[in-house]
Amino acid sequence: MGGEDISSLGITTQLTLLGRDTDEQYGFVNPPLYKGSTVIQKTVHELENNGGRYIYGTIGTPTIENLEKAWTQLTGASGTVLSPSGLGSIALVLMSLVRAGDHILISDSVYQPTRELCDGLLAKFNVVTEYYDPSIGSNIEKLIKSSTSVIFLESPGSQTMELQDIPAITKVARKRGVKTVLDNTWATPLFFKAHAHGIDVSIESGTKYLGGHSDLLIGLASATAECFPLLRATYDAISMVPSAEDCLGALKGLRTLHLRLKEAEKKALALAKWLQERPEVLKVLHPALKDCPGHDHWVKNYEGSSGVFSVVLQDGYTKESFVHMLEGTKIFRLGFSWGGYESLITPVNPVEYRSATTWGHKGFTMRLQVGLEDLSDLKRDLTLGFEYLTGHSKPRL
Ligand SMILES: *Cc1c(COP(=O)(O)O)cnc(C)c1O
Repeated sequence: MGGEDISSLGITTQLTLLGRDTDEQYGFVNPPLYKGSTVIQKTVHELENNGGRYIYGTIGTPTIENLEKAWTQLTGASGTVLSPSGLGSIALVLMSLVRAGDHILISDSVYQPTRELCDGLLAKFNVVTEYYDPSIGSNIEKLIKSSTSVIFLESPGSQTMELQDIPAITKVARKRGVKTVLDNTWATPLFFKAHAHGIDVSIESGTKYLGGHSDLLIGLASATAECFPLLRATYDAISMVPSAEDCLGALKGLRTLHLRLKEAEKKALALAKWLQERPEVLKVLHPALKDCPGHDHWVKNYEGSSGVFSVVLQDGYTKESFVHMLEGTKIFRLGFSWGGYESLITPVNPVEYRSATTWGHKGFTMRLQVGLEDLSDLKRDLTLGFEYLTGHSKPRL
């Protein structure tokens, strides 16, 4: 809508209105796609003084701005900076807040490519990364040094699903002048209000639930008034511009984000509870269930749970039978990413990358992304998978 304050409206109403202005669009419901490099200026004065409304494709387009504005309003931030992918946003945010010689604290349960970015590229620029136990809470204060500039949280953790005590960590960080960055991809702003809980920069891989159809890549970083100009300066400096089509796809995803998340929540929770009763399963790591580390933080701070969770199997199955299960299910397909309409299954092995904590489980672990398929089909599919796991039958590929 044309700049009116819609924050008092219900969330589903807001999702229908954000990032579009029908009056400006000749009455068409959805905004048009603007893409391009050159923007013609009317006068030499405009050309020489950046005088026009738009100047050049990398600096801003109506399509990019529609998504930026929508996300800023939805998150309650001061501003949003987009990137061509979620990992792009993580890199952009860290480059904005960190200098050579700084020490940064990163959760040991973080998305693996974030870890590789810190240990690789950032290390090359003399930034020292220290990993912390995601259950640390206010004790993070003991790890803060005079050179610490950023605490990077991810809650729940990728693959292992630990919930962090975000209010406790942001409180300590504010007191000590350290910036907090949260990867909020799992919850989205609908299920966790990052900035209301004291987070300075909240990152969303819009590739997941916002896109919702596994057909686009985009990253969004919403920030406080203090951090936004730093992010924007990096964006301008390196010109990490998102694709116009993907911005439009993300805006389209926004309209049904609530519906799709609610459906994923319902199906995933039902499936998680069903899995808890299976004899092949040791533990279901779903934030809304008690077995999940940090479950109490989910109860206190979150408004819902999405459709991704992990399952630790009983010890004793062979690698071969685990592979048979992963390759044998027909609806749960093997593949990375999540947040689409299709169900996915992936093996996870936290032992391979953990450094600040140890992963205590010996049994194989898998992550499920629950899509929009019929629940009875999903259960039947996993039952088939368990038959492969227990060696009662073998998949025909
Ligand atoms: C997928 C993912 C990312 C990266 O998003 P891309 O758009 O695929 O680069 C970042 N964080 C989390 C938690 C993710 O699951």
